[in-house]
Amino acid sequence: MNRATTAGNATIAGTAAAATISKAGEAGAPANLTDYERTRARFSWSDARALLDGLPGGRGLNIAHEAVDRHAAGPRAGTVALRCLDRAGAVTELTYAELAAESARFANALRALGVGRGERVFSLLGRVPELYATALGTLKNTSVFSPLFPAFGPEPIAERLRLGGGRALVTSPELYERKVAPIRAELPDLAHVLLVGAAPDDPGPAGTIPYRAVTEAVAPLFEIPPTDPEDMALLHFTSGTTGRPKGAVHVHEAVVAHHATAAYALDLRAGDVFWCTADPGWVTGTSYGIVAPLTHGATLLVDAAEFEAARWYRTLEEQRVTVWYTAPTALRMLMRHGTGPARARDLSALRFVASVGEPLNPEVVVWGAEALGRPVHDNWWQTETGAIMIGNFAAMDIRPGSMGRPLPGIEAALLERGADGRALVTPGGHVRVIDEPGRDGELALAPGWPSMFRGYLDDPGRYAASFAGGWYLTGDIARRDEDGYYWFVARADDVIESAGHLVGPFEVESVLMEHPAVAEAGVIGKPDPIAGEIVKAFVTLRPGHRPDEALRRELVAFGRRRLASLAPKEIVFEPHLPHTRSGKVMRRLLKARELGLPEGDVSTLEETP
Ligand code: AMP
Repeated sequence: MNRATTAGNATIAGTAAAATISKAGEAGAPANLTDYERTRARFSWSDARALLDGLPGGRGLNIAHEAVDRHAAGPRAGTVALRCLDRAGAVTELTYAELAAESARFANALRALGVGRGERVFSLLGRVPELYATALGTLKNTSVFSPLFPAFGPEPIAERLRLGGGRALVTSPELYERKVAPIRAELPDLAHVLLVGAAPDDPGPAGTIPYRAVTEAVAPLFEIPPTDPEDMALLHFTSGTTGRPKGAVHVHEAVVAHHATAAYALDLRAGDVFWCTADPGWVTGTSYGIVAPLTHGATLLVDAAEFEAARWYRTLEEQRVTVWYTAPTALRMLMRHGTGPARARDLSALRFVASVGEPLNPEVVVWGAEALGRPVHDNWWQTETGAIMIGNFAAMDIRPGSMGRPLPGIEAALLERGADGRALVTPGGHVRVIDEPGRDGELALAPGWPSMFRGYLDDPGRYAASFAGGWYLTGDIARRDEDGYYWFVARADDVIESAGHLVGPFEVESVLMEHPAVAEAGVIGKPDPIAGEIVKAFVTLRPGHRPDEALRRELVAFGRRRLASLAPKEIVFEPHLPHTRSGKVMRRLLKARELGLPEGDVSTLEETP
């Protein structure tokens, strides 16, 4: 079969987007990573570990100690660790000393309740200060923190609490009443429910306790018990395509990777005001929305409100954000309104912008350079990897559309694929690494980095099946160019096989999004008796464009000019594409709807605006 593909580089070269955004001559403080090759050659994880303190007296490694207690005991005690904006814009600040005290109270509260080592503590909270005290206090107590996204409905909440064996849950009175009370009877292991925002003397619903009643009754000092770096620390559920969500297990050792990768891929350092727009309910919002900025002694900015263009620009300006980590969907929503709203703001504090979660089309990278004064640095990772694995670095030229290069300490490879689209594993358990540039394969990583997941909860078979021939198999298809930059093609599940061609939806979407009328596109393979599959695109328009037949034809012709035989044969307009709550276009859902098939697990589906 002819495995011709839409070549990432060719797509970029033929666009209005620059093939490379050069960093040569960029002013400002030197980046953390200035010489990629040299840093890579010299890097070792044990050196990275040595940048952290470890628990006093050699008693192990605990994420919360590295994130707060070590700063609270030193010159950074009075630095603002956490600055939370509530929906109305009111600001609550906690210094490192205060965050150490609040998290110590929560750890003592858990101890008083009899919740111990390895037991699971869930949160179901908006982005309020108590969420951060809960996360860090749980880690101090050597219990396991598992954050739930507050917009989940009762069933997904029940399922995750059940799978994770939740012993304690921290939530709010409103969320409890609407989402937890209806399922409480199904959760016999859930011994304690703490309500944030309830007055300490409020008896509340049966089976709940006010958060403040327990945290105010205990001391603001807590000595972290010995913690084995391999102790389970974080439990993140990833959205399965169908069937049940999987619980990815992470350990305290992960903090070594959180710290090192934030330095390299986010250029993060002490003194930064860092805004990660992801909710801690997703792995990004925990690894980089809680842990990494605190290990660096930065100020972590948290906004309780959801996306709103004017508010986000105001926040970037007024809070003097220096490093901003966000998602392609949000950037595309900002881009819909051009460069004007950004240029009207003083964004001079902004030093570095990065994006993760799904493919970043080149247009956005270039728009960032024009509108924000900073190009957007794409990086790639997943729940299982726990930290950024591939990225565009501050001092490195960006190739818009590329995810960048593997981080120091990370060895990536592309593996030859079999008929099912995934890496071809021989009966003897061997795989073949693709050496030539330009060919697509399953993206694989050499195991052994500190934040690699240590298992899927209660599913060792599935964990074992994620590895072959000495590699961790990511389930993503990618390509590498001659300079070692990686280009995302598709999730293996999303790849389209059309008339002998392999089509990555992202590359088609990316081309469509270059048309001035197109705000966003989602592309799927639609079964076809002759071609196997044809490419079908769902398109959302920018404001001011009408979804009429003339525009539809124009887009089909535009696609054909740019993509020839790989162009979408069918294009339909959609006012809203389905997204996960973490911002990914749900191509699987577009396909299920197209084919009239069951929608599968939609617990992570964003509500339609
Ligand atoms: P999750 O585990 O939910 O965080 O999703 C991880 C998946 O998101 C990856 O396996 C990719 O398919 C996708 N993803 C994350 N970052 C990127 C990126 N920079 N470019 C393309 N896809 C990405």
